[in-house]
Amino acid sequence: MAIVIIRQDNKTQEWKNALLAVDSSIEVYAYEEDYDSNDIDMALIWKHPEGSLTQFPNLKCIASNGAGVDFIFEDKTAPIHLPITRIVDSYLAADMSEHVLALILAYLKNIEHYKVDQFKKIWKPIQYKRIADFNIGILGLGTLGQALANDLVKFGFKVQGWSNSRKKIDNVESFEGQAELSKFLSTTEVLVCLLPLTDETYGILNKKLFKQLPKGAYVINVARGGHLVDNDLIEMLDNEHLSGASLDVYHKEPLVKHHPFWEHSKVHMTPHYASVSDTKFVVPQILENYRRLQKNEPLLNLVSKSKGY
Ligand code: NAP
Repeated sequence: MAIVIIRQDNKTQEWKNALLAVDSSIEVYAYEEDYDSNDIDMALIWKHPEGSLTQFPNLKCIASNGAGVDFIFEDKTAPIHLPITRIVDSYLAADMSEHVLALILAYLKNIEHYKVDQFKKIWKPIQYKRIADFNIGILGLGTLGQALANDLVKFGFKVQGWSNSRKKIDNVESFEGQAELSKFLSTTEVLVCLLPLTDETYGILNKKLFKQLPKGAYVINVARGGHLVDNDLIEMLDNEHLSGASLDVYHKEPLVKHHPFWEHSKVHMTPHYASVSDTKFVVPQILENYRRLQKNEPLLNLVSKSKGY
């Protein structure tokens, strides 16, 4: 019985140390280490190399190190008949909420614009917008979307959200499914995407959708690059239907140097770092699942294979 950590960044040792700090009795290995692959029953993964999950004959669970699981379904060799779990964590949600709040406030108060003017030594007041006048629409009212909705309401924004199933959240108007998408979009002035990336949501941020937003709307994509049709966004920014966009995620990360987003004056970019799992907070839920796995008890934060999230 052992855990293998499979990641392609430089955080494997940090995760290993964090797991052992909480429970020094477990066996945990980095993918690259020497161990008997027959012993591995849990794979703790983040953007693993394709094919790597096929090497463990006794694997019983695939645990994503983050909230998203799209990278697991993208690996056509992954044994997705096994239980797949993901991270559900209030700190991850709070970090996302703070990131999006910062972007929205910067947009309302023209902070980016003034930074550009500052470098050009231009003194030019620009009419600011007020929180109370603004309708924020959130695509995806799951763990992260709901936390954001609640925080935006506390700040005084008008908030609405769209999801597969209708939600009951105080002071948040909830829209459900394809049939209500157009109505939701028609009154959304700042659109925030917090959907999981699935076959249904791939490319959802496209020209057809943008055209249904009011002229001058602002778009924030903090979910996955695959949600956005890049050229459609550029076209809608250039023809001034959209006033700007903030992006944290991209089709290919890091974004290639020749991509037009880098130099587009209406695109604000961050390097996929809106919110990341903090080992301090999420290791306990992983170890709890590891314990449950040994005892054959139901796992926490299971992903639905049929829904893909
Ligand atoms: P979640 O709890 O699974 O919530 C997903 C929400 O999207 C749910 O409300 C779901 O509706 C809705 N949804 C899914 N497919 C839909 C569809 N086809 N039509 C309408 N609504 C749909 O996910 P989460 O934990 O909030 O995370 C959301 C995503 O954020 C992750 O998958 C990940 O890609 C991204 N993320 C990004 C970062 C970053 O740093 N940029 C960090 C963490 C996560 P129901 O509630 O009705 O099922």
